Parts: sequence; C-alpha cells; structure tokens
Amino acid sequence: MNYRHIINGVDAELPLGKVVCVGRNYAAHAAELNNPVPTEPVLFIKPSSALVSLDEPIAIPSQLGDCHFEAEMSILVGSPLRAGCSAEQARAAIAGVGLALDLTLRDLQQQLKEKSLPWEKAKAFDGACPMSECVSLDRVADLQNQTIQLRQNQQLRQNGNTADMLTPVLPLLGYISQFFTLLPGDLVLTGTPAGVGPLAVGDELELSLSNLLHCQTQVTARV
Ligand code: ZN
Repeated sequence: MNYRHIINGVDAELPLGKVVCVGRNYAAHAAELNNPVPTEPVLFIKPSSALVSLDEPIAIPSQLGDCHFEAEMSILVGSPLRAGCSAEQARAAIAGVGLALDLTLRDLQQQLKEKSLPWEKAKAFDGACPMSECVSLDRVADLQNQTIQLRQNQQLRQNGNTADMLTPVLPLLGYISQFFTLLPGDLVLTGTPAGVGPLAVGDELELSLSNLLHCQTQVTARV
C-alpha cells in the first residue's frame, strides 16, 4: 500500500477506509455513455485496497479490455457522518478535498450491466482508485465552483466544473450517510464530468482541480 491520506502536505494520520462513489453525477457524462440521468444518486463502493497514490505511475490491468479514466473531485472524511446528516454536519466533517481517478474497466462493466450484475470487478479492483494529496476545506473558496481538468498526452480530455454536479457535495454526503456511515478516513468520489476515455500504457496524464491541486503521472501495465 503506497497511499496515505495527506492534507496540506502533512500526513493526516487517518486510516484508509472505504471509497464511496457516485455514478452519473454530471448530466453530460451520463449522456456520453448513453445512460439516463438518474433521479437520485447512483452509489457504489471501492474498498481501501483500491487506493494508490496518484503521484506514482498507474498500473492498469492489461487483459480485461478498456480501462477508462474518470477524473473526480474527492472528499476526505474526518469525522463520522450518519443517518442522513445535515449540510452543516457534512461540511464540518470534511477533512480535505482532493482529486481521484475512478478507474473503470469499461468493457467488463458493460458486460456486467447487460447481465444486471454488480459492477465491483470493473470498479473496485486493486489500484482502481489513484488518489492525490488533499487540501483542507478552508483553502477551497466554493466546493461547487471548481474546475476539474484531465490531459492525456497534452490533450485536454476532461474540462468540467463542479457547478454542474446534479447532487452537490453537501447533500450528497447527507444522502450517502442514510445508507453507509462515513467514518474518518473514508473518501467520497463525487462523479466525473464528460470526456472519459480509455488509457493506454505509456500515457502521460495531468490532472488539476482549479489552482488547488495539480498531479502528473504515467500509465504502466500491471505485472
Ligand atoms: Zn466515476
């Protein structure tokens, strides 16, 4: 395990917990994959074994079809959130804001969807959640006005803004907490804007969250 939760450059000394993800939280991304825009958040979970550092090369599975990038703003939870918490409680529990890749084995996911089977094998595999360092919430002027950009080999592929989330961060945390208690060290991935696509071994990736976070990494094959 080469990932630790870091906030403002310092080890947050938080355990690595579950990663709760929301699917289709941007209408333009739902449309690009021919999915309907959901009436309430679509949730799934990656285990802590999916976490790796976004500052290190990303090793993708090579025999399982296309592996797509999905750049997402991520929220690091610092104190417990339960039972449909309020927006105020949700805000107070945010320890940090980061950037993550929700790596997705798209061909495998499509096969699983067609059979109405769960997505875990396509979304929760080892290394499926490369995660950046975080910044503390006081450095983020407005959670719902942050640009998310991903460049693949210098080409701008994703260029979204958190203003376009269907369910904004604070109500999303409240919604999630109705089903899953969020514990210190858990992460929430808030969905990807449009522009997702397949990774290839050798790709150079650059991700940014406004002027708050900037990460560069390369894609390698998993041995
Ligand atoms: Zn995603």
